[in-house]
Amino acid sequence: MDRLFIQAKPIIERLKAAGYEAYYVGGAVRDYILKREIDDVDIATSATPLEIKSVFSNTVDVGIEHGTILVIHERRGYEVTTFRAETNYVDYRRPESVTFIRSLKDDLRRRDFTINAIAMDEEGVMIDPFNGREAIKKKCIKTVGSPTERFGEDALRLMRAVRFVSQLGFKLDNRTEEALIQQAPLLQYIAIERIFLEMEKLLKGKHVKRALKIARKAKLNDYWPSIFNQEQTIEQIINMPIEGLDLMELWLLALYLEKAKEPQKQLKKWKMPTKDMKTLLRALTFLNWRKDNNWTNIQLYRAGKEIAVMVEKIVCVLHHEKPQAITVKIYEKFAEFPITERSQLAITGTDVLEWTRKTPGPWISQLFTQLEEEILNKKIPNEREMIRRWVEKWGNPSSDKC
Ligand code: ATP
Ligand code: MG
Repeated sequence: MDRLFIQAKPIIERLKAAGYEAYYVGGAVRDYILKREIDDVDIATSATPLEIKSVFSNTVDVGIEHGTILVIHERRGYEVTTFRAETNYVDYRRPESVTFIRSLKDDLRRRDFTINAIAMDEEGVMIDPFNGREAIKKKCIKTVGSPTERFGEDALRLMRAVRFVSQLGFKLDNRTEEALIQQAPLLQYIAIERIFLEMEKLLKGKHVKRALKIARKAKLNDYWPSIFNQEQTIEQIINMPIEGLDLMELWLLALYLEKAKEPQKQLKKWKMPTKDMKTLLRALTFLNWRKDNNWTNIQLYRAGKEIAVMVEKIVCVLHHEKPQAITVKIYEKFAEFPITERSQLAITGTDVLEWTRKTPGPWISQLFTQLEEEILNKKIPNEREMIRRWVEKWGNPSSDKC
C-alpha cells in the first residue's frame, strides 16, 4: 500500500476501535489503482462530526456543516468526512446542507463518477458497488447512475468530467458524453471561481487536447467567460504542438490567439489571481514585441528569465515547432549577464542621492535604466567605484569636456 495510506491507517483503526466504519475514499483510491502519485488521502466514516471529534484529541472544524473534520495525526492533517447524502439540489448546484447517513454504499452513490466512487479498507480491500475498477481498466469516465440527473443536480460535474479526461487521458462513456452535450448550458449557473479551479486542473493535465476537443464538442466553452471560449482559439490550439507548455504558458497562448483589445478585461472575467494576471499581461507585451523582433540583451533582461522562457516557448509553438531546450538556452544567456535584476547592482538609490546631492525625482529611474544598459553591454563593470564615477558624469555631463 502507498506510504500515505499507511500513515493514515491509525485514523481508520481508531475510528473502527470506537465502533464506527471508516474507509479511504475518492481521488486517492482511484489514483492508487492507477499507480498515479497520491497527494492527499480522504477518509469517509459512519461517525458523525461530533463523534469524530470525540475520538481524536487534535481536530479542526474545517467544514463541519458538510461533515468534514480535519484530524491532525503526526503533524499531518487528514479530512475525515461523515457518510452523507446530498439531496435538495437547487439551481443546479451542490446543496448547502447535507444529511449524515450510516451507509457507505449510499455515500458512494452520491459521488460524481464511478472511478471516484470506490472505497478501500485499511487492509487494501476494495468496496466497489458501482464497478469503478472496471471503468478504470477501460479508461472510462461514467457517472454513478443517470448522467442527465447527475449533471442536472450539480453542473460543476460537467467541468469535472472534462478535467478528468485531461488528467487521466480517459474517454467519456457514451451516455455520459451525450448528457454532457445536452446539459452543457447548465454550466451558466456555476460560479466562475469554481469553473476556474477546474479549468486550471484541466490545463495542467497531460491530455489537454483531448479534453478541449470534448469541451468544444459539447460547447462548454460557450459558458466560459473569456479566453478559451472562442471555438477558433480551441481549434488552433488543438492543432499546435502544445505538449511542452505549462499552465501559464497555455493561458498566454490562448490570450495571444484571441487578440483581445483589452486583455486585462478578458483575464479579469476568469477571476484569476492578480499575481497571475500581471504575469500574463507582462508576458503578452513581450510576446507582441518579440513576434517582430529578435531578443537583445537589454530586452531579455527587462523581461526576466521566467517571462523570456514563456514567450520563447510560445513563439516556437506558433511556428509549429516543439519548444525543446529553450529553457536551457535562455538560462545560459542569463548566466552570461553581469546582472540579471536591478537588486544585483552594486549601488542603491541612496548612494545616487548622496553622490549627486540632487532632490529625488523621476530622473533616478532614468538613471538606473541607463546604468543597467551600460552594465549589461559591459561598458562599465558592476563595481561601486566605477559606477560612482559614471553617476557623477551622468549628473554633470559638462565635466566631460575639459
Ligand atoms: P483530485 O485528485 O483533483 O483531488 P478528486 O477526485 O480527489 O481529484 P476532489 O475534488 O478532491 O476530487 O473530491 C474528492 C471526492 O469527492 C471525489 O473523488 C468524488 O468522489 C467526490 N466529489 C467531489 N466533487 C464532487 C461533485 N461535484 N459531485 C459529486 N461528487 C464529488
Ligand atoms: Mg482530492
